[in-house]
Amino acid sequence: MALATRQGANAPHINLYSDTQTLPTPNMRRAMAEAPVGDEQSFADPSVNALCERVAALLGQEAAVFLPSGTMCNEIAIRVHCRPGDEVIAEASCHILNFEGGGPAALSGVQIAPLPGERGIYTAEQAEAAIRPDHRYAPRSALLEVENTANMGGGTVWPLQAVRAVTDIARAHGLATHLDGARLPNAVVASGTSADEYGACFDSVWIDLSKGLGCPVGAVLAGSSAFIDEAWRWKQRMGGAMRQAGILAAAGLHALDRHWDRLAEDHANAALLAGALAQIDGFSVEPCETNILFFDVGGTGRSAAEIASRAGEAGLRVGAMGPTRMRAVTHLDVSRSDCEEAARILAEAAA
Ligand SMILES: *Cc1c(COP(=O)(O)O)cnc(C)c1O
Repeated sequence: MALATRQGANAPHINLYSDTQTLPTPNMRRAMAEAPVGDEQSFADPSVNALCERVAALLGQEAAVFLPSGTMCNEIAIRVHCRPGDEVIAEASCHILNFEGGGPAALSGVQIAPLPGERGIYTAEQAEAAIRPDHRYAPRSALLEVENTANMGGGTVWPLQAVRAVTDIARAHGLATHLDGARLPNAVVASGTSADEYGACFDSVWIDLSKGLGCPVGAVLAGSSAFIDEAWRWKQRMGGAMRQAGILAAAGLHALDRHWDRLAEDHANAALLAGALAQIDGFSVEPCETNILFFDVGGTGRSAAEIASRAGEAGLRVGAMGPTRMRAVTHLDVSRSDCEEAARILAEAAA
C-alpha cells in the first residue's frame, strides 16, 4: 500500500534493477525540508559547506565540492587532470568508458587505455605495461583510474594492497590518480578498510549520494585545495554551480549518519539472494561481495531479456545486462523477504 502510493500502482513491487532506485525516506525528506540554506555558488550554503567538509575529511582529502551527479565528478576530474590528447588508464568495464556518453573524449579530448581486469580489478603489472614511453609518437599517459567497488565486475571490492600497488606505479611515473567511488561506502563496509585509507591513495576521489546511501540527487568530489579550486571552475563552466543546494546536501548529511553502516544489510541480502539463485536449474551465479549480484541464465535456454520480462510481469524488476547475463542490486528499499520472493519469481521465470 505504502509502496503503491509512493511508486504508482503499476510499479514493480520489488525493484532490484539498481541502487539508484531508492526513494528518500520520510526522515530524509524532513531533514531536507528543515535544512539551513544559502547561495551555494558563493559558499554561503551552510548545509553544502558542512557536507563538503565532512566528506573531504572522510576521504582523507583537503577539500571537496558538491556536484549534481557522479558522472560530473568523473568528467570534471578527468578534465582537471588531463589535456587533450592524453590517455587515461582504466579497467575495460569501467563507468567512464562505457556509461558516460563518450564524455572523456567529448569534454576532455582524452582517450582511454582499457585494461582487461579480473572482475573489474587490474594489476600493477598491467598498469605499468600500459604506461606509454615519453615519446612524441605516443599519447601522454596522464591519469590512472580505479573503480571501487567495480560495478560491472560484480560489485567487487579492491583490497587496499591492490589499490596501493597500482597508485604507487602511477605516482612513480608521474601520472595523476582518480578513484570512482560511486560505491566506495559499500567497499568500506564490506572490507573494513576505512574510507580515508582508500581515499588518501588518490589525487581525487568521490562518493555518490544517490546510490546505496539513498539520496535523491548528488555526489561529492574531493581532492587537494588546488584540485578543488580548478574543479570549481569546471563546475561553473559546465553549469553545475547551484543556489540553495543545501536542500540536497541535507539529504547527504542525513545519509552519512543513517544509511552508511546499514549497507551491511544490503550485502547480507545480496548474499542470501546469491545462495537462493544458485539453487535454480540453469542459473550460474557469480561471486557476490557487496550489494551487486550478477548471474548467467544461459543454462535455462532462455535469454536474459526474456527472464527479465517474465519477472517483470510477476512484479520483480531486474537488469538484463547481456544476452544471458543479469544483474540484481540490493538497497535500502529491498528487504530480506523481498529477496526470498525475488528468488521464487526468478525460479518461475526460468522454468
Ligand atoms: C552510477 C555510477 C556512476 C555515475 O554516477 P551518477 O550519479 O549516476 O552520475 C559512476 N561510476 C560508477 C561505478 C557508477 O556505478
